[in-house]
Amino acid sequence: MSTDREISLRVDLIHTCHAMADSGLTFGTSGNASVRLDTNSLLITPTGLDYDDLQPEDIVLLKENGHYFGSRKPSSEWRFHRDILMSRRDVNAIVHVHSQAATALACRGVGIPAFHYMVAIAGGEDIRGAPYGTFGTKELSVHALAALEDRKACLLANHGQIALGLDLAAALKMAGEVETLASMYWQSCQGGEPHILSSDEMQRVLEKFRTYGDQSAPPDDGLIPGG
Ligand code: 13P
Ligand code: ZN
Repeated sequence: MSTDREISLRVDLIHTCHAMADSGLTFGTSGNASVRLDTNSLLITPTGLDYDDLQPEDIVLLKENGHYFGSRKPSSEWRFHRDILMSRRDVNAIVHVHSQAATALACRGVGIPAFHYMVAIAGGEDIRGAPYGTFGTKELSVHALAALEDRKACLLANHGQIALGLDLAAALKMAGEVETLASMYWQSCQGGEPHILSSDEMQRVLEKFRTYGDQSAPPDDGLIPGG
């Protein structure tokens, strides 16, 4: 028997898939998404089904041990979704897309260096590129997990990108940020390599990101609240 929470997560997953397609982050049946249900299980999109046709009962419940429940088979990428969610307790949701700029960069076998301070949004000084592994394999999962260490996003060589978040909305937003950064990096490479920010500078940015947007954090030095 599904709980209200499970039903609402199934619906959230479908909305996320629609948003992935509507925002142009993915096309056709490329990409997939998952969300943590509890400590040892997750909900994941089914393999090869058109997002427009998805119904809550098409979403697959997958256990840590590989047992799955439902009338559909889980995404061919169930392994990296399972491995990431079970080993990364700091996130609860995953979006995987073949977005254009991120994939174009990934096809060159590179990640995104600190060409722009916003690269820190993924949690570190760069967004790593994982080596190639055939889709749906353990090899791909191992590469993805390594590239995601201390990060909330990575590129997958000759494939696409993975974005993580505290919830599906955050993972989707991260995928959009990665795609925007990949597109800007690609453009800035026209005519030569762009200037790359130093490690010291990226550490400063990462420190500032700890309170960025937090309205309850103390104001910056030099700012005096008047109200
Ligand atoms: P699924 O339809 O099996 O989720 O596969 C799409 C995909 O992006 C594989 O990497
Ligand atoms: Zn894929």
